[in-house]
Amino acid sequence: MSRWKSIGQLLLEYGLTDDEGLREGLKMHKASGIRLGEAMVKLGKVSRDDINWVLSKQLDIPFVIVEDVIPNDELMGKFSRQFLIENRIIPLHETDEQITIVTDDPLNDTAIDFIRNSFGKKVNVSTGSGRKIERVLKKAYEKATLPELIASLEGIIERIRETSFYRMDFLPGKTSCRINIFGAGISKNIAILQGAFTKQDIFAAFDSLDIPFLYNTFTADNNLFLSVYPVVNTLEPTGRPVIAGKYGLCLPADITFTDTAIHGVAGFFRSDSPVQGYGYFATRKGGPVSENSVSVIDAAPEDFRECYIDAYIPEKCPSCRGDGCEGCNDLGYRFSVMEGLFSSDDLNERLKQGRDGKY
Ligand SMILES: [Zn+2]
Repeated sequence: MSRWKSIGQLLLEYGLTDDEGLREGLKMHKASGIRLGEAMVKLGKVSRDDINWVLSKQLDIPFVIVEDVIPNDELMGKFSRQFLIENRIIPLHETDEQITIVTDDPLNDTAIDFIRNSFGKKVNVSTGSGRKIERVLKKAYEKATLPELIASLEGIIERIRETSFYRMDFLPGKTSCRINIFGAGISKNIAILQGAFTKQDIFAAFDSLDIPFLYNTFTADNNLFLSVYPVVNTLEPTGRPVIAGKYGLCLPADITFTDTAIHGVAGFFRSDSPVQGYGYFATRKGGPVSENSVSVIDAAPEDFRECYIDAYIPEKCPSCRGDGCEGCNDLGYRFSVMEGLFSSDDLNERLKQGRDGKY
């Protein structure tokens, strides 16, 4: 008895099709050479799940309810993501002698042989719904990338802490997320993470690091961009919270207003214009400033005289000339402190010289 006849018989036996449906399936199977099960699905006679279930009976292998499967991250890590997704395989467990997988195609000899040969172990095959396998894999990989995002953000913030980079720009795509750092007129790509991250994922990552932030969102070319200003430092001597990286003008006040949205940070209030008597944190170039301003150096007012400035001034790294090397922590810049009373001309001149690598 051939394997295919047996599948047809089982479909009849379990009442999943009738004689007429099976006849049509066999006709297509013979004419096109595709498997009977495939033909039956194509003709709309049975569902793919019906075929998987019947295959499990025919081959005497377990049929797995995929919803109940908890992916084994360690074992999944031994396979390429592409291999598992393309072949719709979830590895379930591994012993010294054998490895157990669930797939929607227990006749996929190429993939099963590949596993047998790479592990040098017997492969126990069970079958389950392909659609559900895909869903479980997608979820498992999404889950795996959030810790990567968190670790990456933590590393970036550590690297920009004593620099003039104070803003992180997230450019999320369908399969990856580009992260640029920005400050003192310099924008630099620092990471490209695999995975589709949403704004909520990025917020959750900062939350799990316990880092509050100010942020702006904007769209360009139909893509959502997110600019985040992590609040990780305390500005001395005011004790006021400030963003990562040292910046700009500083005048003491108890409460700070800002023109950005706020996430999880105390002591900041949102206002589109400066409030008399309080510190103001402007994040837009040319944004409003007042006597009591705290401003990023990029948004410094055009003409101020004798303002107190507390900033790290970037200079192109003398070793790598901006390309990034070990000496500059791969940032391409080194930073010198500029602190005291200066005018806007002084500040802008220093920034310009630093960018041009004139030091
Ligand atoms: Zn360097």
